[in-house]
Amino acid sequence: MSHVIVVGSGIAGLTVALRASAEHDVTIVTKDALGDGNTARAQGGIAGVLCDDDSVDAHINDTVRAGAGLCDEDAVRVLCSEGPERIRGLAAAGVDFDTDGTGFAQGLEAAHSYPRVVHAGGDATGRAIARTLAQRVRERRIPVLENSLLIDLVVRDDAVVGTDVLTPTGPIRMLAETTVIATGGSGQLYERTTNPRGATGDGVAAALRAGARIADAEFYQFHPTALAGSGFLISEAVRGAGAVLRDNTGRRFMLDVDPRAELAPRSTVALALARTMAAQDGAPVLLDATGVPRLAERFPTLTAAVAQAGLDWTSEPVPVTPAAHYWMGGIEVDLEGRTTVEGLVAVGEAAHTGVHGANRLASNSLLEGAVFAERAAAAVPRGNKRQHPPLSPAVTEIVAPALDRSDLQRLAWSALGLERCESSLNDAICRLNAWDAEASLTPITREGLENRNLLLVARVIARQALARRETRGAHARLDYPDADPEQARSVTTALAQEALAC
Ligand SMILES: Cc1cc2nc3c(=O)[nH]c(=O)nc-3n(C[C@H](O)[C@H](O)[C@H](O)COP(=O)(O)OP(=O)(O)OC[C@H]3O[C@@H](n4cnc5c(N)ncnc54)[C@H](O)[C@@H]3O)c2cc1C
Repeated sequence: MSHVIVVGSGIAGLTVALRASAEHDVTIVTKDALGDGNTARAQGGIAGVLCDDDSVDAHINDTVRAGAGLCDEDAVRVLCSEGPERIRGLAAAGVDFDTDGTGFAQGLEAAHSYPRVVHAGGDATGRAIARTLAQRVRERRIPVLENSLLIDLVVRDDAVVGTDVLTPTGPIRMLAETTVIATGGSGQLYERTTNPRGATGDGVAAALRAGARIADAEFYQFHPTALAGSGFLISEAVRGAGAVLRDNTGRRFMLDVDPRAELAPRSTVALALARTMAAQDGAPVLLDATGVPRLAERFPTLTAAVAQAGLDWTSEPVPVTPAAHYWMGGIEVDLEGRTTVEGLVAVGEAAHTGVHGANRLASNSLLEGAVFAERAAAAVPRGNKRQHPPLSPAVTEIVAPALDRSDLQRLAWSALGLERCESSLNDAICRLNAWDAEASLTPITREGLENRNLLLVARVIARQALARRETRGAHARLDYPDADPEQARSVTTALAQEALAC
């Protein structure tokens, strides 16, 4: 049996661990508690073709259209055709999806041509999935290191042979034949985000340092509707159920922007919100859900979160702003999760399979996590544990920048956010490089590790955003407002310091 280290315990990490544990020794390393992450926050649901009126081709078309010319169509076909089986697999594992008497209850979300979004607990889909899969992991007695962070991947002879991990009692070195990065996104790079505290791009940054290639880093999806102040996400499903967006005069401004109005692709809605906010001196826009039938019953978690902010959305519109939500970019992988470095696999939001293109279709990311994690686990090479030459102990110090995280988040929000332009990107790159140049050797802490990773991720996003001289999907350039057919391709980068230089 070979040893597989799975870093991260959202839908992608838990799925790999469960599937791989049938044939391999698996250890899960996870930053907070088992099951914490973006997955546990997912509300709207998981998309899949589960009834005869719908079709896999329709799901593929919707995904490709949202992806604005950058989807990998082979990967999209895998996603949409294997998705239904994975959703049934989640149900068989014990996820209690909502039903409507004829089967799974299915909701409509933005840019889907059919109501195909399956949910659990109304708007608590991710929590149900994370809890259930974490429970299965415990029952299988898969070893789990909680509150333990990936520091860096251990590379020997151009192959990843394990990881250094910061555990509550200090750094340790763990060896494995296969290491799986399932560390999710990097929303904490931005001043406003729907992502939890741990979403700091650690796995992507570590993979870059280990020599892996990163694809399409410039595409960060901003969700249009986070509750102003708290960052709590108000799912698209609420707009799918009939909620509308109004400016501070009460006008439904999305009708002037796109014929699909509030159900236009996320990038369109988020940009319209940002521009409307700018036109009203930064004041949030209003989400009016007062006309949605059985609002509190259908969206109990959201209703509680809105009430916690002192608002009653059944009787009044509530203030919302865009927020960094989902990273389309990530570690370049093939259809089995293999990265460009031997021994290193990536799955879920940290990976770039190409299914989301330049803009993710709502509720396709839980699906991506389930589908491609299953494939990656099945493809882990069988074999025995390798005999390693003696390796040095885990590192105890890293070169980390001494930056104030909120300065970085503000810079990212203004220069790498919803609208970008050459001059602000160049200024940002110089600032980011200056922070990098000031980094020094320090004892390892969680804060230092995360800052180092966020800074690297920011530098890659900035560089790729500068290079993409067009507007496409979630990447909007003020100075290049149109899509350029010549640039309709994925761009990958590897860590070459000279390429990141100012
Ligand atoms: C508020 C919100 C709502 C959403 N709603 C939906 C939805 O309705 N439908 C949908 O399809 N998608 C939705 N998404 C997106 C979706 O939830 C994520 O893309 C998906 O869950 C990612 O799964 P993952 O397993 O790749 O990562 P995550 O679930 O984020 O898991 C990452 C894991 O890695 C761990 N980790 C991170 N860094 C380290 C480290 N250095 N060392 C060890 N462990 C580490 C984390 O603790 C976590 O356990 C939503 C996202 C958010 C934030």
